[in-house]
Amino acid sequence: MHTGNPKQTVMFLLKPLVHYSLHFLAPALIAWGIAHTRWSTLDWRSIWGILLATMLIDLDHLLATPVFDPTRCSVGFHPLHSYTAIVVYSCLLLPRRTRIVAVGLLFHIVTDWLDCWI
Ligand SMILES: [Zn+2]
Repeated sequence: MHTGNPKQTVMFLLKPLVHYSLHFLAPALIAWGIAHTRWSTLDWRSIWGILLATMLIDLDHLLATPVFDPTRCSVGFHPLHSYTAIVVYSCLLLPRRTRIVAVGLLFHIVTDWLDCWI
């Protein structure tokens, strides 16, 4: 992982930073966007809370050994990050009641996916 190559050191520090700002800040922007649509009556802070709560799907990492492996791609590996789960999350987009949760879950998957590419 850590080889002393300056470019890799930068990525080593930058990657978690990008990951966590995406996991926390981007949902705030999305929440703000959703709050301004017609189908949601919640204010952006409540929506942000719901979006952040969808991060709980990362609890499935606890089922894996090792719990944390920076070289592993969580998408398609963990049960709540499986392709079946992604199909279920996509269906949750349809009913208004579950739409915000679905947006959060799918955004989470996209964020984790990006991690597999950078
Ligand atoms: Zn995840």
